[in-house]
Amino acid sequence: MPAVRSFLLLAATALLSSAASAHPHDSHDHDHAVTRALPSRWYHPEDHPATGLFRRADVPNDGVTYAAVGSPEWSAGYPPDKVDSQPLPEAWTDALAAAIKAGKIPDFPPSQNVPGSNPVYPNGLDPNGDVVCSATEKCRNPGDIWDAPDGVFASSFDDGPTEFSPALYDFLQTNNVITTHFMIGKNILSWPASFLQAFEDLKSDIAVHTWTHPYMTTLTNEEVLGELGWTMQLIHNSTGGRIPKYWRPPYGDSDNRVRAIAKEVFGLTTVIWNQDTEDWSVGTPGGATRPAVDANLQKWITGPKSPGLVILEHELSNDTVGAFMQAFPLIQQNGWKFESLATMDGGDVYQNAASSTEDVTPGLIGVAASAPASSGSSASQSGSATGSSASTSSTSAPAGNNSGKSANGTSSASGSSTAANGQATGAAADTNGAASLFASGLVVGVSALVAAAILL
Ligand SMILES: [Zn+2]
Repeated sequence: MPAVRSFLLLAATALLSSAASAHPHDSHDHDHAVTRALPSRWYHPEDHPATGLFRRADVPNDGVTYAAVGSPEWSAGYPPDKVDSQPLPEAWTDALAAAIKAGKIPDFPPSQNVPGSNPVYPNGLDPNGDVVCSATEKCRNPGDIWDAPDGVFASSFDDGPTEFSPALYDFLQTNNVITTHFMIGKNILSWPASFLQAFEDLKSDIAVHTWTHPYMTTLTNEEVLGELGWTMQLIHNSTGGRIPKYWRPPYGDSDNRVRAIAKEVFGLTTVIWNQDTEDWSVGTPGGATRPAVDANLQKWITGPKSPGLVILEHELSNDTVGAFMQAFPLIQQNGWKFESLATMDGGDVYQNAASSTEDVTPGLIGVAASAPASSGSSASQSGSATGSSASTSSTSAPAGNNSGKSANGTSSASGSSTAANGQATGAAADTNGAASLFASGLVVGVSALVAAAILL
């Protein structure tokens, strides 16, 4: 927060100048050894104007009190199963409509799920062509992440939280490293304690792995919206208002339509991988064996360092977690820089916060496609939690009450005029007034989205 930073700078300057002016007195021969007790109260009282200027939340969130993770209020209002089992918040559908209208979402039909094969596209559409560019077929859209920088082991785990997650989290904490968890929305609801261990204890990075783990390219636009949106909403409401920045499609199944919805509506960057341990298949008929998984990990970790490694790994069983823990010492021994995937490019982990511990800039629901171009520059710092224009007006759904119809205020969220409405400045993010504007709900910053598009 700039205001706080200036305050600290002033304070530091004052200290330095007093230290400098202390020197002339040192030559005096009278006794300086006067013991004085510190004042019992060293801070400004609550009603002091300075307190209002620099008010901070007790925890580094957006000033909103969210329902406790694991409580009935926290878990209420999400789809029990399929994402089309209840209406989507209007803000999301409005944002999708705006993105479609702006020509941002490719118009081709969903693929069909064919058991035992990759999804198949109708009408003879080429999955490897420029129109579709299916990640399942290893077609690389330049906007997606497949590789890590040279020499970087970019760590991530999919499918958590599960009953096997705590062992992994304990291990990571013991080794003083964090990772990126591409979490399944429904799993977060099922394993709230594990979620909290990852986010609050380990302070790891939380990202999106959809609500129900489907083949995303087989879904309609609205289903894609629900799979991403509900997971983002739950993560947002469980992390003090953080808006995820990265998502990984289950099975790596994404295409130009799905990735466009993720980016244009929700500001999400799609992450795939460049090596697959197939750890997920251990124990399944015809699946990989644990020794084979171990051998592959060893081969890659002792292999070339260009590009860096983005290995698909899972919090899915003792074997998937165990294979990583066994291979972990090799990573350092072979000179890799171990980093959480979400931090490997040096950018922020969330769209509105630098990390799971840094301050959060309140965000808003919106569609990047409808944001005026001019808002891009003003938003370019929003990702670094500087309290820039990402903290504009919002859609506010009550915490924990996320039913479709609860997304009132959608009219303020979908219009481009909202996106340009930089009513909340950096200073405002520090005030109670700003906090009351952002009473929960999924609030995705249009400006942050534009910023993400620029930065990535
Ligand atoms: Zn998965």
